[in-house]
Amino acid sequence: MQTVTILGATGSIGCSTLDVILRHPADYRVFAITGNTQVEQLIKQAQKCTPRYVVLADDSHYVAACDYAKQYQVTAEILCGAKALEEVASAPEVDAVMAAIVGAAGLLPTLAAVKAGKKVLLANKEALVMSGALFIEAANQSGAELLPIDSEHNAIFQCLPSDFEYGQLQKSGISKILLTGSGGPFRERALSSFGNITIDEASTHPNWSMGRKITIDSATMMNKGLEFIEACWLFGASADDIDVVIHPQSIIHSMVQYVDGSVIAQLGNPDMRTPIAYGLAHPSRINAGVKPLDFSNMKDFSFHTPCFERYPNLKLAIDACRAGQAATTWLNAANEIAVSHFLKGNIEFCDIAYVNESTLNAMPVVDVTSIQQIVEQDELARVAAESVVKVKVAC
Ligand code: NAD
Ligand code: MG
Repeated sequence: MQTVTILGATGSIGCSTLDVILRHPADYRVFAITGNTQVEQLIKQAQKCTPRYVVLADDSHYVAACDYAKQYQVTAEILCGAKALEEVASAPEVDAVMAAIVGAAGLLPTLAAVKAGKKVLLANKEALVMSGALFIEAANQSGAELLPIDSEHNAIFQCLPSDFEYGQLQKSGISKILLTGSGGPFRERALSSFGNITIDEASTHPNWSMGRKITIDSATMMNKGLEFIEACWLFGASADDIDVVIHPQSIIHSMVQYVDGSVIAQLGNPDMRTPIAYGLAHPSRINAGVKPLDFSNMKDFSFHTPCFERYPNLKLAIDACRAGQAATTWLNAANEIAVSHFLKGNIEFCDIAYVNESTLNAMPVVDVTSIQQIVEQDELARVAAESVVKVKVAC
């Protein structure tokens, strides 16, 4: 029996995690679930999985949560705030933590789980992009087990040799990590019409059903850029070790190429319950409720090289990865600001890359060696990105 905390339970990954857990009531017990604004959904989830704690990001929905708890006869204790999030991520009773809060908001609770030596199922890629070396160092110190949930990284993890040592790609005979991505909804759209992209068009992914922010990141391919950085940190790879490959069908979730010419790939239907189940049960396998692949129905299987003119955010992320920690922290912060303004209709789709690049250019060179500095640089980059947006909107 594993006791699990789900950070970001009401999101796309959180819901899929609960779905898998509820299929195996004898193997998993939920200790705490957390959410932000979708309070009724959170309480309904509590009714199903009977956690000891329900945690809200802040106290603005506390009264509503208590009312819903009464209505749905939920007896879990309701807590609020950043400290409570960290506490349920690091409590001694907890074996595993699903880190599925979106964006920088996930950094501190995810780090709390890492520092407490938990088995951490890492979906919140932004936490690793923001804090890379410090995050990995904290895991090494505490003995936390990091299990990648992002489908690509989960695939790479599955394709690595069982005796793989962090950072030792050459020793394992690995020549490349091949990070696949669908190319998003605008893979074939004429570049000349990018100025007309609507919020609805950018919010519709061809293969995956996901939260709003990652769906926009997939349309700009910033998601692949963040994943590029994430892969470097998760496997101790350098930027030269990774190639991005566009695979529009999203059936291969990533591959590892070896020096003898072999390529090992992980395949499956695009359903996040597969990597979630893998992470929960590792090293065993459990039923995830995912439809098996039907090879008799698989027609096209194609691969392309991404074009940076179409995906400038991907290039920005790869360049930031090479530049170092501060740059990836700034880029992540700028992108969160840019995407939120795009979703409010304040800026256009192409402005996302403009805001990101302008923010990176505006930030003075600095060394970051502590989480406090990471949080400071994140805040400074947000202020810089807001200024870029302000000027853009005024034009
Ligand atoms: P989502 O938007 O559907 O859900 C986000 C969750 O975070 C919600 O539970 C929300 O309540 C919570 N949250 C949001 N802001 C918060 C705040 N300020 N404080 C505390 N909690 C807050 O997002 P998602 O698609 O489930 O993605 C979650 C994470 O997993 C992201 O980092 C994303 O990149 C990663 N991921 C998602 C997928 C996917 O298929 N959805 C795949 C790979 C990786
Ligand atoms: Mg992914």
